Amino acid sequence: MREICYKCFRPKASCYCKYTAPVNCNVKFVFLMHPKEAKRQRTGTGRLASLCLPDSEIITGIDFTKNERLCALLKDPQYYPVLLYPGEDAHTASSPILKQNLSDRKLLVIIIDSTWFCSKKMLRYSTNVSSLPKFSFYGKYKSIFTFKHEPSEYCISTIESCYYLIKELQENALAPAEADPEPLLIVFKRMIQFQLEKENERIESGLPGTHAYDMYYTKKKEIPDFIKES
Ligand SMILES: [Zn+2]
Repeated sequence: MREICYKCFRPKASCYCKYTAPVNCNVKFVFLMHPKEAKRQRTGTGRLASLCLPDSEIITGIDFTKNERLCALLKDPQYYPVLLYPGEDAHTASSPILKQNLSDRKLLVIIIDSTWFCSKKMLRYSTNVSSLPKFSFYGKYKSIFTFKHEPSEYCISTIESCYYLIKELQENALAPAEADPEPLLIVFKRMIQFQLEKENERIESGLPGTHAYDMYYTKKKEIPDFIKES
């Protein structure tokens, strides 16, 4: 049996932990995962992000209204909980009202680390999450890479969301300037590299893909420049 790393849930031979470093950003992150997706390591990057964020946790479920751990966090007076979710009514790091509401509390960012389809379902059930103040970016970002076929180019991965969020909080003096969020991108690039290499090995060996959309990819993939450079 292959030995598994219980931090990143990867085989020890290709464990990502060696590429991680703590990002001490004074923000608490909670990643909500659909139980089905929590098992699959391919799509979500929440687990990868949590390896770099010392004050973060992953909670799995679909309906969180009675989830003990999440409910306890949401009513803990030391936190100001927000839901990372785009929208006209979403606050950003530069909204004066965010600073006001935050006061001396710690920002607690809830991120749904799931496909768009599962996220919608989770939000429909979890009224304690969907009723939270919404929080988003003021910048427009594009993902450096997508494994899944995202419904729009504005969808960035969970790990990139954490990265840009910390940057924007820093720009507004809501996160310590000395906290370096780069480890988040570094480990994300490593994951991309690893997955592309695996995919190329599969193509070379002539094995069929494990995902339906892989069937269309029989050409070896180019390892992007941003990985070669780093
Ligand atoms: Zn590991």
